[in-house]
Order: sequence, then C-alpha cells, then structure tokens
Amino acid sequence: MHEDVRRLNAPPDRSLHLWFEPWGDGLAFAAGCVIELRATSPVPGALEVADLADRTAIYAWPGSTLQIIKDGKLVHTYDVAAPDTPSGMSTREFVTTSFGEPPVPPKRVVYNGAEMNEGWPERIEEAQTITDYSIGGVAFPRVPYGLESGGWDFERPCHDCRVVKGQLHVPSCDVEQCPACGEQAITCDCPSEGDKGE
Ligand SMILES: [Zn+2]
Ligand SMILES: [Zn+2]
Repeated sequence: MHEDVRRLNAPPDRSLHLWFEPWGDGLAFAAGCVIELRATSPVPGALEVADLADRTAIYAWPGSTLQIIKDGKLVHTYDVAAPDTPSGMSTREFVTTSFGEPPVPPKRVVYNGAEMNEGWPERIEEAQTITDYSIGGVAFPRVPYGLESGGWDFERPCHDCRVVKGQLHVPSCDVEQCPACGEQAITCDCPSEGDKGE
C-alpha cells in the first residue's frame, strides 16, 4: 500500500474548513487543533492540498481511502476508494472540471457569546419582533427561552437557535414550546396560521 500523511494546523483564532475530494464533503475544525490526514491506496500517488480563500481543499489520488485524525483521535474515514480519473488528469483537475471549486463555507461570527453563521444574529433580532403566534384564531404570547418546562441549561445559549435566556427563539427552533399546548412548537398539532416554523 502507498501512504501519504499530512499534518495541518488550524489557525489559533478561527476554525479551519477542509473540503475533501473526490468525496465532495466538508468538515470544520476548531481553532488551534491539529489535523492529520492519512491516505492509503494500492496505487502510488500523493494528496494534493490546495489553499483557497476561506477553505482548504484536499484531493486524494485514485484508489485512496482517507482517515481524518484530530488531536490524535480518528474522527472520520472516507472508506469509498477514490475512483480512477481519465488518463492524464489529476483528481483535482477532474473534479474541478466536472463540479467546479469547493463551496465557500459560511462565515462565523460571535453573538450573545456564541459562535454562529454570519446572518444568524439578524434572524435572532427579527425573531424578537414576532411576539405571538396565532393558533386557532387566538393570539398566544410566545414562550421565551428560559420559561420552557424542559430541563435545558438556560445559562447557556439555546443549543439550536443560540438565543439567550429571556429571548424569543428563532422560529423553527426545536427547543421552543408551543404557547397553546406546551408541546414542542415545531411538531405539535395546533392549527397555527402564523409562522411557527412548520
Ligand atoms: Zn432556540
Ligand atoms: Zn401546540
């Protein structure tokens, strides 16, 4: 077997976005961690690593399978062997010709002390203006984060929509409680005319 092992360091202040071809899959790694890529193939070859804006693309050669090791621990395996490419073409040339460049990952921002995709803070602020849901023709005031009957740790931002205690969830959040029946708002059977996120 032929092996190629690469070591990548995520920058100290932001996450590292890796994109793996020919599998067409992306993984994000937290700031400061060390990632080892271990590719093996019956065919001689080497990984091609391309630093692109905001992400790094990894192209495996034909026959490869790839293990992703983070801080010494195996976190992911691409175990479908990379297919052959038309003769004379590298995996990078073949994939880029067929599918284009890897997608640009969403930018991350910090809001309410939590990291989230760019644009999400605006969704949280907009959610604060939706104060009630109309259910069966009656306006019910929405249940803010912290007043649910579930056993969440309300001192931390909502695990799904990242609002903090006292704020209204972003509609479609799986923590939000229906103000009419007390069940999960996104799955309950209440006839909602408003945007409950269903
Ligand atoms: Zn939420
Ligand atoms: Zn309900």
